[in-house]
Amino acid sequence: MTGLNIIKLPKIIAVSKTFKMDKILPLIEHGHIDFGENKVQEAIDKWTDLKEKKPNIQLHMIGKLQTNKVKFAVKLFDYIHSVDSEKLAKKIAEEQLKINRQIKIFIQVNIGDEDQKAGVRVEQVTSLFEFCMGINLNVVGLMCIPPVGTETSFYFKEMEKISRSHKFSELSMGMSSDYLEAAKNNSTYLRIGSRIFGQRN
Ligand SMILES: *Cc1c(COP(=O)(O)O)cnc(C)c1O
Repeated sequence: MTGLNIIKLPKIIAVSKTFKMDKILPLIEHGHIDFGENKVQEAIDKWTDLKEKKPNIQLHMIGKLQTNKVKFAVKLFDYIHSVDSEKLAKKIAEEQLKINRQIKIFIQVNIGDEDQKAGVRVEQVTSLFEFCMGINLNVVGLMCIPPVGTETSFYFKEMEKISRSHKFSELSMGMSSDYLEAAKNNSTYLRIGSRIFGQRN
C-alpha cells in the first residue's frame, strides 16, 4: 500500500492565563483537558483545588520559569514547555525527584534567533536534549514562539525538521493567529488563548 498517511491530529491547549475560573469552567464541564498558564503563582491560585477534584486535567506551563519557582511548578504542572537552559533542567530534575513525579518537558527553541526571546538557539537543541536525557528528564518535544508579524509557516517548517531529526513525538507551536499554519506543519499542541477566551486585558 502506498500513500497511506497517519495524520496525528493536534491537541488544543486552552491558554487560560489572566482569565478567572468562571470563564474556564464551561470548557472543563464540556470535557476539555489541556489548559495553559504562564505564571506559577496564578496557576497555583486557580488550579490547585480543581486539579484535585479532576485529576485528568493536564496543566501546561508555557511561560518563562524562574528556578526559584520550579519547586511549585513541578507539583502542579504536567508539562513544562519552556525549558531553555541546563540550570533550569537540572532544577526540574532535582525537584521532581524529591516528590517522585515525572513531568513532561519541551525544550523551547528561539527559532527566529531574536535577542529578546527565550529559548535555545537551533544549534544548541541537541546538546540541551542530551543534557536532559542524562539527568532523566522526560523530553517529549520542542516548543517555539516565532517572531511576530512574520510569515510564521517558514519557522514552523524549520521546527518540524528539527523535531523530526530528533524523533520527538510532540511539537508545541501555533497560537490564535497562526494555529492553522502550525497544524499544517505537524504541530501536536496548539496553544490557543484569545481565540477561545476573548481578548486579554
Ligand atoms: C499567551 C500565550 C499563548 C496564547 O496566545 P493567543 O495569541 O492568545 O492565542 C500561546 N503561547 C504562549 C507561550 C503564550 O504566552
